[in-house]
Amino acid sequence: MLQPVGVGNKALADYTHLVGRTLIKEIKGHAEQLKGLRVLHLSATAFGGGVAEILYTLVPLMRDVGIDAEWHVLFGKEEFFNTTKIMHNALQGNPQDLTDEEWEIWERYNEINAEQLSKDWDVVIVHDPQPAAIRSLVPDNAKSWIWRCHIDLSTPNPGTIERLGPYLPDYDGTVFHLQDYVPPVLMNGDNRQPYICPPAIDPLSPKNMALSPEDAAFVCDQFGIDVNRPLLCQVSRFDPWKDPMGVIDAYKLVTQKIPQVQLALVGSMATDDPEGWDFLTQTMAYAQGDPDIKILNNLNNVGAIEVNAFQSQADIAIQKSTREGFGLTVSEALWKVRPFIGGDVGGIPLQVKNGETGYLVSSPEECAQRSIEVLEQPELGKQLARAGKEHVRQHFLTPRLLRDWLGIFRDVSTTSPP
Ligand code: UDP
Repeated sequence: MLQPVGVGNKALADYTHLVGRTLIKEIKGHAEQLKGLRVLHLSATAFGGGVAEILYTLVPLMRDVGIDAEWHVLFGKEEFFNTTKIMHNALQGNPQDLTDEEWEIWERYNEINAEQLSKDWDVVIVHDPQPAAIRSLVPDNAKSWIWRCHIDLSTPNPGTIERLGPYLPDYDGTVFHLQDYVPPVLMNGDNRQPYICPPAIDPLSPKNMALSPEDAAFVCDQFGIDVNRPLLCQVSRFDPWKDPMGVIDAYKLVTQKIPQVQLALVGSMATDDPEGWDFLTQTMAYAQGDPDIKILNNLNNVGAIEVNAFQSQADIAIQKSTREGFGLTVSEALWKVRPFIGGDVGGIPLQVKNGETGYLVSSPEECAQRSIEVLEQPELGKQLARAGKEHVRQHFLTPRLLRDWLGIFRDVSTTSPP
């Protein structure tokens, strides 16, 4: 069954002191004309990863301004999620494409979910490739269809994008984080221009709300972190593109100069990510039992508050990805005024101006060298971190994302056939 997700309540007014009255007024102005619009978000999972993170805030805020928004997650068994994980990796450039049998599995689950999709939506937003075929199966169930892509499609596996591509031009709108991610199939003049709209974080969620240094230290201490010694921390799924082993390499280089440093790799396991478990085991083996490397996940009871505590406690927040659609963890860390070092890929440079709001690196050696610089010069770290927080405040908080979505709804509702 397609599962409705309960998202609770949030009030846009609570964000006024963070984003300013002008933006709040602008949002209310847009929303006035969209009251009662029936919007459905369709995604693969309600737990783990960036899409779920965004929707838990975006959907209640849409409701708060009068949109009749819902969020449903797909029905899928292991064979479907195994297949969509291969597809996800292939679309981000992995050489392994889906077999014909796997494409059939993907189509079959899209059919099963399409059959269950209720009718009379004004807008259905299909998140990522997992449900991308549903529009072609039940086009009349919504007045407008939008495909929201959260991944880096700049160098996809040619076979995979060739097969997925034909599903995309029929959407009334497509949305990408960066112009570079728009696939050629959407670039010919007959298609509507894709919307470019990066995601955002919720500054008031348990993961990002202000936590006192004492509380952060108290939580980290319970996981065996020595809160009086420097801490490097990466929060992310256990996924090769997030390069946790590269982070371990960087940490080892840092210990040669600063032996008291510790590393925490905090990674939740998403329900649609079977590969994550294998990779977690490999990462643990790579750490070779070093007691100063803590590898934690949601099975160790790491939830939003714990992630908040680790990000707040870190002397340096790292996101050493080698591919990254956007990287919510980057804005999350910067919002907590942490010195940040991340891979110079995908959506990370959008959030980090090298040398101004953090550092961008392309190897474990560079990551280690920048870490040492920041650890040895705390004032430098503070300056980068303060600039980073302001950059996030201006560009990457959910009210800005809500405003962008309302603009897209207005566009597609005025131009789609009745
Ligand atoms: N996350 C979490 N617990 C973890 C690991 C990750 O809550 O143990 C969250 C993280 O804080 C962020 C999201 O999962 O909000 C990951 O989003 P991002 O865009 O960084 O990467 P994705 O997983 O979508 O590739």
